[in-house]
Amino acid sequence: MSSVTVRVPAKVNVQLSVGPLREDGYHDLVNVFHAVSIFDRVEAKESDAITVAVEGEWAGQVPLDDGNLAVRAARALAKHAGRSYGADLVIHKEIPVAGGMAGGSADAAGALVACNELWGLGLPFEDLVEIAGDLGSDVPFSLLGGTAVGTGRGEELSELPTGGTFHWVFAPAEGGLSTPSVYAECDRLREESGAEVPWPELNERLIEALSTGDAYALGSCLSNDLQDAALALRPELATTLDAGRQHGALGAIVSGSGPTCAFLAIDATHARDLAASLTATGAATSAMAAHGPVPGATLA
Ligand code: ATP
Repeated sequence: MSSVTVRVPAKVNVQLSVGPLREDGYHDLVNVFHAVSIFDRVEAKESDAITVAVEGEWAGQVPLDDGNLAVRAARALAKHAGRSYGADLVIHKEIPVAGGMAGGSADAAGALVACNELWGLGLPFEDLVEIAGDLGSDVPFSLLGGTAVGTGRGEELSELPTGGTFHWVFAPAEGGLSTPSVYAECDRLREESGAEVPWPELNERLIEALSTGDAYALGSCLSNDLQDAALALRPELATTLDAGRQHGALGAIVSGSGPTCAFLAIDATHARDLAASLTATGAATSAMAAHGPVPGATLA
């Protein structure tokens, strides 16, 4: 096999509950991931060394050195297999960079699946999930896809049943937000307020809304504990969220650490109309309609 291509989805967090800051600097999370139909494609071609190139409108913002998560994933897989394999990786990027949609994690998951195939390793999915967990807490979900709850630091995953397709609009914002800086701002705001931070708990109403496919119920209980921090760092996002609500979004939240704003629509037609309204009114510079849940990293 001389070339393998894998398609990997972006995610939105439909619940992101962040517990108190731990001694080790991490937070305990209840993180409900939902994979949506905005995809990066990761192509792995036969080569002697591991290299990476990126195509698409976001290409300029992605590192091309060993800091690229797809490169790190390919290296980790080769190390696991105990050989110095090579692959020319080409990432066709559609997922906003540093947008809170786990684009880097998606590319890492894509590289794991593509190189496993290209190199004929035949490693089972569970082995890939284990390697993924060492690369970053969102990477196992990018392999799995669908809807799942992550606990601990977010890496202990359980699938959640969904009773239908949900329709979304995503509005990326210029200039990303770094995930560590949003967590730091969240800690700072919490310290400033002095309020006690509750232990994160899975929202039972959300589980029910997902399992019955009830978009109205899901829209009413979307939550993101990082949202206040993202809005403190980028106050203009509040205007975008408000505009979405005015155009009938069932729910409007910052996606993960932001700055992408996510809007839950009634159906596919409403999602298309909402995306058009957000851009036409200037509330967002661009907006993409998408649906979820979709599968994780899949051979194309
Ligand atoms: P998350 O939602 O998992 O917190 P994110 O969507 O906010 O992440 P990413 O798009 O994953 O953010 O990018 C975060 C940073 O990772 C970028 O600023 C970039 O420097 C770096 N990075 C490394 N590899 C990649 C990659 N393949 N694609 C995108 N960013 C990458």
